[in-house]
Amino acid sequence: MERWVGRVAVVTGASVGIGAALVEELVKKGLLVVGIARRVEKVEELARNLKSEKGKLHPLKCDVSKETEIRDAFKWIKSNLGGVDILVNNAAIAKNSNLMDGPFENWKTIIDLNVLGLSLCTSEALAIMRENGVDDGHIIHINSMAGHSVPESPLLAYMYSVSKHAVTVLAEGLRRELRSKNSKIRVTSVSPGKTFTEFMAASGRPFHPVEFYTSGPYLTGKDIADSIVFALSAPPHVQLNEISITPVDKP
Ligand code: NDP
Repeated sequence: MERWVGRVAVVTGASVGIGAALVEELVKKGLLVVGIARRVEKVEELARNLKSEKGKLHPLKCDVSKETEIRDAFKWIKSNLGGVDILVNNAAIAKNSNLMDGPFENWKTIIDLNVLGLSLCTSEALAIMRENGVDDGHIIHINSMAGHSVPESPLLAYMYSVSKHAVTVLAEGLRRELRSKNSKIRVTSVSPGKTFTEFMAASGRPFHPVEFYTSGPYLTGKDIADSIVFALSAPPHVQLNEISITPVDKP
C-alpha cells in the first residue's frame, strides 16, 4: 500500500457497515480519505476517533442518488484535495422491489442510487483523474453475489439483483472503455456474501425471512475492507477483475 500513502481515496456510504470499516483501514494506511454519506455526523464521529500519523478522514455530506449533490461533492474534492486516485462505490440500498408487490418508488430508489449514482460518481472521478494525468487510479465497485445470479429466497427483492447485475456490466464495460483509451486505471468488482451490517434495517420492510439476517454465518465489514486493501495492494500491472467473498461454511 506504500504507493497510496498521502493519496486521495473517495468512499461512498462511509457512515456505517462496510464503508466505515474501509475508511478506517485506509486512513490507518496513510491515505487521505473522503467519506461520503447522508448521515455525515457518523463519519465525523469516525474521524474524531481515528488516529493516524499520515492518514486523514474528510467527512462529506452527499446523497449519492442526487445528480447535483454528486457533482458538487466532486467539485469540493477537486478544489480542496486536488484530485482523486481511488474511488470505492460502496453506497447502495435494497428494498422490497418485486414486480408483483414492490412499489415503483422502490424500484426507482434502487436504480437511482445503485446504478445511476455509482455511474455518475465513477464518471466524475475519472474526469478528475484524466485532468490530473493520473494513470494508476483504481475504481472499485462493491457488487454482491446477487450481481451474478438471482438469489433463491422466496421473498427476494430482485430489482436489487437487477441493480447489482448492472454493476457487473458497468465494471466490465468500463474496463473495456479504459483499455480502448490506453488507460491503465484499474477496475475491480468486489462481491460480498452475507455481511453483518445495518443493511437489512436500512432496507425497510425485510425482503428476506428474518432468520436470513439474524443467524450466521456472517462476514464482517473488516473482512470486506481487507479484500479491498488486497486489491489495491496488487502491483500496478496486475488487475483483480472480480473478488467474491463468502463465509467459509456458507459458499
Ligand atoms: P449499510 O446499510 O450498513 O451501509 C450502507 C451505506 O450506504 C451507509 O453508509 C449509508 O449511509 C450509505 N447510503 C445509503 N443510501 C445513500 C445515499 N442515497 N447517499 C449516500 N450514501 C448512502 O450496508 P453495507 O455496508 O452492508 O453495504 C455496503 C455495500 O455492500 C452495498 O453496496 C451493498 O449492496 C453491498 N453488499 C452488502 C451485503 C451484506 O450482506 N451486508 C452483501 C452483498 C453486498 P447514509 O445512510 O448515512 O447515507
